[in-house]
Amino acid sequence: MAISIHPSIDNGVKKGATGFAGGTLQCNCASDKVEVKIDGNVAHNHACGCTKCWKPEGAAFSVVGVVPRDKLSVTANEGKLAVVDEKATIQRHACKDCGTHMYGRIENKDHPFFGLDFIHTELSPQQGWEEPRFAAFVSSIIEGGGAKPEQMDGVRARLAELGLPPYDALNPTLMDAISTHVAKRNGVL
Ligand SMILES: [Zn+2]
Ligand SMILES: [Zn+2]
Repeated sequence: MAISIHPSIDNGVKKGATGFAGGTLQCNCASDKVEVKIDGNVAHNHACGCTKCWKPEGAAFSVVGVVPRDKLSVTANEGKLAVVDEKATIQRHACKDCGTHMYGRIENKDHPFFGLDFIHTELSPQQGWEEPRFAAFVSSIIEGGGAKPEQMDGVRARLAELGLPPYDALNPTLMDAISTHVAKRNGVL
């Protein structure tokens, strides 16, 4: 049986709309949904195979991207949100009732990605968000139970077919950004 990468891209990656101005994210509760408003488009959207990102039932990957934290606001039912793991680098704010992760936030000011919030655009009723463009932490889906080791060649081939180059960390752009941050902090740059 073919592995589901993620329901939003299993039938192909749909390109985002240029000039897309943002929208809302809603949790999966039937009523009293937590709602988060994003002023602007997502960036660095990608499929992530790590074991921490929230993903729909049956999917091997999450689809996750970032927005500046000052462009994100909780607009409804904020009282239903709780941080999944207070000790994690990314504080994932999830709905206590349905478990959906609404946004992840980094509070450590020294972290290379401080100032960015992590979101899942599949939670949005609006169309036009920038599409995922690579796959990160692909090997980690073995740890998450998403695939057997012998299925990984097929998974990487499928990701490439979808136009998502597979990496076992982040992509070179983001890995370079992290190293640049560290080099500056250490006075190398
Ligand atoms: Zn909910
Ligand atoms: Zn992840």
